[in-house]
Amino acid sequence: MNAPRKVEVSGEAGYSIEIGPGLLGDGARLARALRGRHALVVSDGNVAPLYLDGALAALAEAKPGLSVATFTIPPGEHEKTLERFTECLHALSELGATRDATVLALGGGVVGDLAGFAAACWMRGIDCVQLPTTLLAMVDSSVGGKTAVDLPSGKNLVGAFHPPRAVIADTSTLRTLPDRELRAGLAEVVKYGAIFDAGFLDWLESHAEALLARDDAALAEAIARSCAFKADVVARDPYERGDRAMLNFGHTFGHAIETEQGYAGTTGDGLNHGEAVAVGMVLAARLSAALGRAGAADAERLQRLLERLGLPVRIPAGLDPQALLARMRLDKKADASGLRFVLWDRAGAARIVSGVADEQVLAVLRE
Ligand code: NAD
Ligand code: ZN
Repeated sequence: MNAPRKVEVSGEAGYSIEIGPGLLGDGARLARALRGRHALVVSDGNVAPLYLDGALAALAEAKPGLSVATFTIPPGEHEKTLERFTECLHALSELGATRDATVLALGGGVVGDLAGFAAACWMRGIDCVQLPTTLLAMVDSSVGGKTAVDLPSGKNLVGAFHPPRAVIADTSTLRTLPDRELRAGLAEVVKYGAIFDAGFLDWLESHAEALLARDDAALAEAIARSCAFKADVVARDPYERGDRAMLNFGHTFGHAIETEQGYAGTTGDGLNHGEAVAVGMVLAARLSAALGRAGAADAERLQRLLERLGLPVRIPAGLDPQALLARMRLDKKADASGLRFVLWDRAGAARIVSGVADEQVLAVLRE
């Protein structure tokens, strides 16, 4: 096995992200991330049948005295609830988990957010090790310490900042990921290039086919570079008081689309998060051009790359621009002076801009 790639998140609660094939079978590596004698592995009904037994066997061999329990939820965003969170705490209680216990999150962002939040709350905070199995979780949700569950009234309304103790991303798990989930993750990868590094956008353009074909080397490179961007911004702004909000590029539009269609992406008949962000990035780039900040050619280039990656770039039919605007006004990103967006100065460089007028946003929504 090639040595895994390693990305460090610096800071007081620093940790490392390890990326490579077969890492879930490497019991010694998993065991090194665990401090105490108790571990709860949280997973979902798609991931557990594929990867849970292997990870448990590897752990048992490397750390024979470990007392392990598992907690598996049905798959899907609608399971990221307070009810599942409570069940997870009961599972920790039944395990007899002490303050040096570890929660392992084996799955996508839903499992990672739920398990991370349970770890943040159990005895006021125990270790969480993220074992992401979706591309989105590898490049985004497993890194940075944001944990949460949803309420019926909105996504991620209850949560905590609780950095993981370690992130171990086994890239072999991506082989079983549905195509659509792979593409959703690629949207977030493109986002890093769009806001931080035009050179990375060039690289993505020349590796689009390899990424879609799940070429191991291309995926590992894309994940490591994405994690490095995220690690850097998270280390500078762990609690999202400033720069970290740059990661919301495409998300103001994207969240409005997701909410307006009622999170239909989770049931398969609407855009999922990554798809909505793809559309949102194109809209944000166009808004940047309309405001004279960045060139229209850059926006077209971004659109072409997303299209090549099989991602949508237009607002789904039937969504009303006025309704989308109303959603954006209710989002966390609005203030009294107008809407706040992450806008381009040019491809690879963005900044947070407040006070964008409704008419300008509407014009882009209607294009
Ligand atoms: P997900 O966890 O729902 O996973 C997507 C689907 O893929 C699920 O059906 C899952 O069971 C399945 N799956 C996962 N891994 C698989 C594998 N290797 N093989 C086959 N199937 C597999 O969705 P996601 O896109 O990973 O995460 C979305 C969630 O992440 C949202 O709840 C979002 O709010 C959250 N998120 C959090 C952060 C953060 O900073 N905490 C950032 C971005 C997103
Ligand atoms: Zn996102």
